[in-house]
Amino acid sequence: MIAVLGAGPAGLTAAYELTRHGQPCVVLEQGSQVGGLSRTVEHNGYLFDIGGHRFYTAVPLIEKIWTETLDEDMLVRPRLSRIYYRQHFFQYPLEPMNVVRGLGPVEVFRCGLSYAFARFRKRGNEKHFEEWVSNRFGKRLFEIFFRTYTEKVWGIPCDEIGAEWAAQRIRGLSFGTLVKQTLLSGRKPVRSLIKEFLYPRRGPGMMWDRMRARVEKAGGRVLTNHPVEAIEMEDGRVAAVRAGGQRFEVDGVISTLALGDLLPMVEPPPPQPALRAAAGLRYRDFLTVALMVRGRGLFPDNWIYIHEPGVKVGRIQNYTNWSPEMAPDPEMSCLGMEYFCFEGDGLWTSSDEQLGELARREIASLGLVDPARIEGFAVVRVPKAYPMYDGAYRDHRQTLGSWFRGIPNLEAAGRNGLHRYDNQDHAMLSGIMAARNLIGGHFDLFEWQQNDYLEDAESALAAEWAKLEATQPAVPKPISGSGDAVR
Ligand SMILES: Cc1cc2nc3c(=O)[nH]c(=O)nc-3n(C[C@H](O)[C@H](O)[C@H](O)COP(=O)(O)OP(=O)(O)OC[C@H]3O[C@@H](n4cnc5c(N)ncnc54)[C@H](O)[C@@H]3O)c2cc1C
Repeated sequence: MIAVLGAGPAGLTAAYELTRHGQPCVVLEQGSQVGGLSRTVEHNGYLFDIGGHRFYTAVPLIEKIWTETLDEDMLVRPRLSRIYYRQHFFQYPLEPMNVVRGLGPVEVFRCGLSYAFARFRKRGNEKHFEEWVSNRFGKRLFEIFFRTYTEKVWGIPCDEIGAEWAAQRIRGLSFGTLVKQTLLSGRKPVRSLIKEFLYPRRGPGMMWDRMRARVEKAGGRVLTNHPVEAIEMEDGRVAAVRAGGQRFEVDGVISTLALGDLLPMVEPPPPQPALRAAAGLRYRDFLTVALMVRGRGLFPDNWIYIHEPGVKVGRIQNYTNWSPEMAPDPEMSCLGMEYFCFEGDGLWTSSDEQLGELARREIASLGLVDPARIEGFAVVRVPKAYPMYDGAYRDHRQTLGSWFRGIPNLEAAGRNGLHRYDNQDHAMLSGIMAARNLIGGHFDLFEWQQNDYLEDAESALAAEWAKLEATQPAVPKPISGSGDAVR
């Protein structure tokens, strides 16, 4: 029997793949529900995600699994997400005329001067994000459209983030291109974003509840409230897993647990370098305050990026715009006030009451919702929401990859399982590949570039994986190597 640790997208998809190949398996999940970071939380009939979860993939295999699993319960939703700054909405990506209207003539003039100044004294050696963006847009536009949100999300000062991240994210965009575009084509965006996406009728958790049912129907077991406590090794292989007070003898294990959580559970302990590498991986944490608000259509966006410097909230979701079924009453809305933080910092340790009050105060100060309409709130804290890519993470991952390679019946998959800042599709594909490895496959998920494929089926899967690698979100890398964060 194979034990799959964790019932998020990677774990459930791995179990699904195992059952497709007739392999008995058990999924061990610490929480009371499945879906991991992609679960849907329910509070008094209101539904919300851990951050809004778009279902979008370039891989036909993953799209097929989604469509087969949810069928007509998968909605196609239009996308609208804008930037909010000083009581104005700005289109995202930026549209020149909209920027001019939103900032007003005085601020536009200041931004123009600031840009001219930047061109005049442009620095050649662009080391950090702030320099890179200021050189192309001027310092003033950098402050308005880049600094606040970036620092809120990543907790790293912009002059500590390597310039290559800016080059990846805002490639081809500059003040010059914006002006040219205004003169030539009026209002078309410089690059277009995906205009629609798939979303389950009752939130992303619906996908994972159904996937659990598919696994169980095919003979797999999914045990919630079973936190993994220990991994027992014998003769260089995993022999058993202890979880939720039970002991499971196993032929193989796929772990989607954070590497920093998994390694200390191994008995006898792994070598010191591997333990140190696992302990050295760092994360950005996250919390969301869902607000239950009287009224529908409060604003048309799926989500809004908050660039206002005076508030801590980074993004606001309107879940009822993702799917009307996210609130039990057609006269009510379910919003998500999203705060990026570090476990143990001031936001994280605030009481639920304090966070509810903060969210109420901030949404009122932004002028988005009349606080008298707020009828309830719920707080969810999410540890290890974002694997961080600091100066040491690559070495740590290499060390951990070598340790995994030495254990023939242990595989890692998923976002924190591989310490990859990925989306659901990538996590799922890694689950499929990890499952294949336990039945004769040869994928190296830590060093995928070095894979040498033995069969056509493997090559096809590897090609999909390579395609996905190129579409995963980019992560800023601190230039100091220390990853020191704004506290
Ligand atoms: C704010 C936010 C927004 C996102 N938006 C999108 C989006 O729009 N589209 C998209 O595709 N992706 C999005 N993602 C990414 C997506 O959530 C992840 O890619 C995906 O959930 C990763 O799946 P996973 O199975 O690897 O890990 P997880 O979802 O983290 O699942 C791991 C599971 O392991 C369990 N576990 C941990 N420790 C133990 C233990 N000791 N014992 C037993 N079980 C344990 C956890 O409870 C969890 O259920 C977003 C993520 C975040 C944080």
